[in-house]
Amino acid sequence: MNERYDVVVIGGGAAGLSGALALSRARRSVLVVDAGEQRNTPAGHVHNYLGREGTPPAELLAIGRREIESYGAKVVTGTVTRLTRGGGGFGVALADGRHVHGRRLLVTTGLTDELPDIPGLAGRWGRDVLHCPYCHGWEVRDRAVGVIATGPMAVHAAQLWRQWSADVTLFPHTLGDLPDDTWEALAARGIAVVTGEVTGVEADGDRLTGVRLADGTLVPREAVVVQTRLRARADLLGPLGLETAERRVGDAVVGTYVPAEPTGATAVPGVYVAGNVADPLGQVIGSAAAGLTAAGAINADLIAEEIRVAVAARKGVEGIAPHVAEMFTEAYWEDRYAGRSALWSGRPNPHLVTDTEDLTPGEALDVGCGEGGDAIWLARRGWRVTGADISPTALERAAAHAAAAGDDVAARTTWVHADALSWTPEPRRYDLVSAQFVHVPTGLREALFARLADAVAPGGTLLIGGHHPSDVGVVPRPDVPELFFTGEEIAASLKPDEWEVQAAEARPRTVAHPETGQRVTIHDAVLRARRR
Ligand SMILES: Cc1cc2nc3c(=O)[nH]c(=O)nc-3n(C[C@H](O)[C@H](O)[C@H](O)COP(=O)(O)OP(=O)(O)OC[C@H]3O[C@@H](n4cnc5c(N)ncnc54)[C@H](O)[C@@H]3O)c2cc1C
Repeated sequence: MNERYDVVVIGGGAAGLSGALALSRARRSVLVVDAGEQRNTPAGHVHNYLGREGTPPAELLAIGRREIESYGAKVVTGTVTRLTRGGGGFGVALADGRHVHGRRLLVTTGLTDELPDIPGLAGRWGRDVLHCPYCHGWEVRDRAVGVIATGPMAVHAAQLWRQWSADVTLFPHTLGDLPDDTWEALAARGIAVVTGEVTGVEADGDRLTGVRLADGTLVPREAVVVQTRLRARADLLGPLGLETAERRVGDAVVGTYVPAEPTGATAVPGVYVAGNVADPLGQVIGSAAAGLTAAGAINADLIAEEIRVAVAARKGVEGIAPHVAEMFTEAYWEDRYAGRSALWSGRPNPHLVTDTEDLTPGEALDVGCGEGGDAIWLARRGWRVTGADISPTALERAAAHAAAAGDDVAARTTWVHADALSWTPEPRRYDLVSAQFVHVPTGLREALFARLADAVAPGGTLLIGGHHPSDVGVVPRPDVPELFFTGEEIAASLKPDEWEVQAAEARPRTVAHPETGQRVTIHDAVLRARRR
């Protein structure tokens, strides 16, 4: 299985299946990968699910699977073990060695209920060891219920369960002394309090019999309530840059979750979350609703990408993979700048510094100027600089940085909104034309560099720098080899009678590897040439 999907849904519980239903009905290709350990699996029935009240969890999911498969979505059993970026989306690796690719990810992996370490609890979890009165309260109504204080919400839980049964006992266990007003409120509602450490929960055959205390007493109970720690199943997302946050109820930390917008969009573009992984207190119907909401947001996101690609295609970027083509659109760059207050360091590129120090300042053009780091450095040295970029946001920031650098720098800089793929700067005008790390695919690149060379005045300098193809595999780079070039290639395109090539080389540079932090040597392609 080495397939590509519009959306890979990781986790086939209510949230994932509901998202997959809406996405497959929106004519998206969808794969659901599910490990089959839904949170409520131990429970006999799903309650509070309108229209399907009391359905066994497995039956509800089987219905959901049939529904999504009828619209063409695919469901496989498996565990996703690794997520990587690439190919205009994400690589998804399964434990059994299968790999798939998704343009977007809907992560609906749910949460793990971490049970308190009390003997006897785990084996009866979901049957008569309970956590949620809305899920199980009706089933144990009027029965003998014990609430063991295993978390900060224990007193609240005892009061809540009292709604379903008049026979509720609170075991403060290791909670410590209860404040007077808490005692009073418990007594007022007829809730018994039995102090002493709990050492176990006991059963006779398939029937819970009671709560054992350290002094040997067995307090007869028919159902026991505990608070679990709600831990988001989100380890997969760490390598993509997504961490969990603490979920609080009031001051009490009850677990973790993956922060996201109400749409399910996370801080990592293209990754959406829904259900218990994002909202640990959510129930089945709410998780299904969240999956639907995220599906709508994902579809809108994909449509936005498809519009960008179509626009790029109209501009002549046909024949290039959609995720590459969209990199040459204003919308793509606007999105990138919008996501962060500063995309670049603000420092000038090293080759610009070394290769222009000996030049007499004149008129310069910086193509793909971004937030203006290079252009402002040149302006400080006395150059009159035109910075050109496709992103209005980048240009606004560049102008603001120039203004902050002082009136003389601001007066020497001009910012031009231009798409380098179609823009022709004035021929023979500039004493320096610089393009640093402007990567466009083969075919378009030759035409772009030829236009930049044309803009160099007699005696002026063309300075082009970029990532060298040999870096691929050394450090993470977009998996689009045709974007990278060598200085030698550009030199070969310059007519020797018009140009003196001063440098056409792969210059080594040592950087920290972004993932391992180890020092590695990479190379920049550099072309410096002087028009005769
Ligand atoms: C005992 C119990 C009873 C409950 N009863 C009710 C009830 O009656 N009514 C109600 O509304 N709510 C109930 N709930 C809450 C309900 O279980 C959750 O709200 C609901 O399951 C959340 O749905 P979800 O899709 O977010 O996650 P889940 O249903 O937990 O589904 C997550 C899925 O993701 C899969 N997964 C995780 N990691 C991976 C991976 N790496 N690769 C592939 N798959 C993965 C899991 O195996 C699982 O199948 C109960 C909870 C418990 C614990």
